[in-house]
Amino acid sequence: MIQFPEINSKIQFLKKEKEVELHLLREDLIHPTISGNKFRKLKYNLIEFTKGNYSALLTFGGAYSNHISATAAAGKEFKIPTIGIIRGEEFELKFPENPTLKFAKNCGMKLKFISREQYKNKTNPDFLDQLKSEFGEIYILPEGGTNHLAVEGCEEILNQQTKEFDYICCAVGTGGTISGIINSAKKHQKIIGFPALKDSDFLNDEIKNWTGRSNFMLVSDYHFGGYAKVNPELIDFINEFKDQFDVTLDAVYTGKMMFGLDQLIKNGFFSSNTKVLAVHTGGIQGNEGMNQKLNKRNKTLIL
Ligand SMILES: *Cc1c(COP(=O)(O)O)cnc(C)c1O
Repeated sequence: MIQFPEINSKIQFLKKEKEVELHLLREDLIHPTISGNKFRKLKYNLIEFTKGNYSALLTFGGAYSNHISATAAAGKEFKIPTIGIIRGEEFELKFPENPTLKFAKNCGMKLKFISREQYKNKTNPDFLDQLKSEFGEIYILPEGGTNHLAVEGCEEILNQQTKEFDYICCAVGTGGTISGIINSAKKHQKIIGFPALKDSDFLNDEIKNWTGRSNFMLVSDYHFGGYAKVNPELIDFINEFKDQFDVTLDAVYTGKMMFGLDQLIKNGFFSSNTKVLAVHTGGIQGNEGMNQKLNKRNKTLIL
């Protein structure tokens, strides 16, 4: 049985601008390798795993996935065999130069590379049965790690110290994390999500699968062209943020959220004397892979 300590992340004051106080919940500091919201999402799934008779925990992700990285790290730490189904056959040959996959492999994760076409079957029951016949009694965690146990884990992101805030902001991928935050928010709190994907229309319905509450809104103007797409303005923002607050953001999720949130404050979206809490969901491992790509294109790197 895995015993997890109770974690209360520290809250860092960032700045007061336009009479709005901005603070940061440092979920990125929860664990050195099982970072941020991925720890929250894994927690009850790992407990569930140990209750059953499973031979391995299998999950899905792209070649730079924070979820793959965190699952592999958790497998190593809690001695659970892990299997990663990776999107893109081309990474089978290239993977020694991919920092995320190299890390996952070193943690003991077994990697299986499939084509982008095949990967689309990731929730198809026949495909999952096929994986079960290949790998045995596996515990299957969906892409991004979102299921009802993951949402339950994310309900623990907010705590006693976060009660005083009027707004809670977070980056959104599959919607699991924001759903947990929505569920555990106080009645007076509003949640703002910043989708990292361009086509995020599905998210409102997806979030409704996990919560009956409507105390949230999505601001979809800050995806920077799509998932994992970046431009020099975003990278400059991330580097200035590091300089000013000594906090590293990632370019896929938290950098875009903080950029968008900064714009909302500057545009007068919040009334004066509002207290805003942004959640740093981690994901810093992705910066190494992002910098490899930026470097190939001779662009400014993330510091
Ligand atoms: C995965 C991830 C998210 C998105 O979480 P969802 O539960 O999929 O919405 C946000 N921030 C970071 C750093 C992540 O790694």
